[in-house]
Amino acid sequence: MSRVLVIGCGGVAQVAISKCCQASDVFTEIRIASRTKSKCDALAEKLRPKTKTVITTAQVDADKTEELVKLIKSYKPELVMNIALPYQDLTIMDACLECGVNYMDTANYEPEDTDDPEWRKVYEKRCKEAGFSAYFDYSWQYAYREKFEKAGLTALLGSGFDPGVTQAYCAYAQKHEFDTIDTIDILDCNGGDHGYPFATNFNPEINLREVSAPGSYWEKGRWIEIPAMSVKREYDFDEVGKKDMYLLHHEEIESLANNIPGVKRIRFFMTFGQSYLTHMKCLENVGMLSTTPVMFQGQEIVPIQFLKALLPDPAGLGARTVGKTNIGCIFTGKKDGKYKSYYIYNVCDHRECYLEVGSQAISYTTGVPAMCGAMMLLTGKWDKKGVYTVEEFDPDPFLDALSKYGLPHKESRNPVIVE
Ligand code: NDP
Repeated sequence: MSRVLVIGCGGVAQVAISKCCQASDVFTEIRIASRTKSKCDALAEKLRPKTKTVITTAQVDADKTEELVKLIKSYKPELVMNIALPYQDLTIMDACLECGVNYMDTANYEPEDTDDPEWRKVYEKRCKEAGFSAYFDYSWQYAYREKFEKAGLTALLGSGFDPGVTQAYCAYAQKHEFDTIDTIDILDCNGGDHGYPFATNFNPEINLREVSAPGSYWEKGRWIEIPAMSVKREYDFDEVGKKDMYLLHHEEIESLANNIPGVKRIRFFMTFGQSYLTHMKCLENVGMLSTTPVMFQGQEIVPIQFLKALLPDPAGLGARTVGKTNIGCIFTGKKDGKYKSYYIYNVCDHRECYLEVGSQAISYTTGVPAMCGAMMLLTGKWDKKGVYTVEEFDPDPFLDALSKYGLPHKESRNPVIVE
């Protein structure tokens, strides 16, 4: 019996809310609040005939803590699910603290304006000290640890697939398969085809920022940074086939390096087709990926935001996407003194996701763990006060919930290891 406030109503949120409505014994009441209220109303109307969950809607600008506080105080939820953008993480965390409500999200904080001098100062210091240059990192949200602890509240960070399920896979491997883990390779493969020459599978601005940035990995206690897309491997993915994948920086490497004791190397690979890479390089070369505002015909525009307006809406890709995703982790390490390797992953079919909830598999594989993470907090299965990432909780009930709600895992005890 819980009341939940969801912020955001894009591709991922629509799946998460649809799945919450399948578990109406836990999610008895939901308020969907976003910048564009008409999207919330349309989703509420679609879901109401199929669920016992009582759904209401509201308009909110989540960049403004005072608007959020007003909304939270009037609705009085037990949990705020932030499924808007990483730009809003801190304003929503502030509002949750002020109102005494638990918080969760699906991606760690990054600023909308990377030219903001205040942010830039902190960022440049971090780049030098930590050794990676991604715009996002956990430090901003870890800074809330004490405040959440003192308030007796929980903030669950990054409960999507990657970050999210990949960290639960690591906690699972640590708990059940290994005495010590030496290496972790996170492999994110999208074998789907939407038929467009170029489109992104989730928010284009966030996605293009991530993949056009330098890659990095963790080895022997430090970050090693490499030029974007400069490390490529081919891997033969179960149910998908052979794909080229590239080493990227990814946020869960940072938390796993702290939370998996003794781990020597952590890498993250994502598959990309040649057409995607060629388009991205061209857009980058002409300045369309820039986040710095430019004047155009008397109006200030941010190039990457203008590009987002031209690209297909990821929430609308579902109807035309076929193929499967395969995302998981390969581990090497020791059990009972012997070398061992282990692969745990999920395969998800774009078409099946569309038939179930009207979305493609990227939104689905993110929205389902968001709902399952919320369920862990609401049912008290995950109950620690402070700010935590997924691998810091018991993976077992989470993986059970994922299996029940559409993301079962597969395992291999003799996987091909990435060179
Ligand atoms: P979308 O762009 O489709 O949706 C974002 C939603 O947030 C929209 O409804 C948007 O409103 C709303 N929003 C944006 N700014 C504000 C604001 N200031 N106030 C209120 N609402 C706002 O993004 P996705 O659904 O693709 O992604 C959602 C989140 O999931 C992102 O943080 C993304 O990084 C994360 N993600 C995580 C993954 C993982 O595996 N962990 C994988 C994929 C995504 P409007 O409709 O008006 O634009």
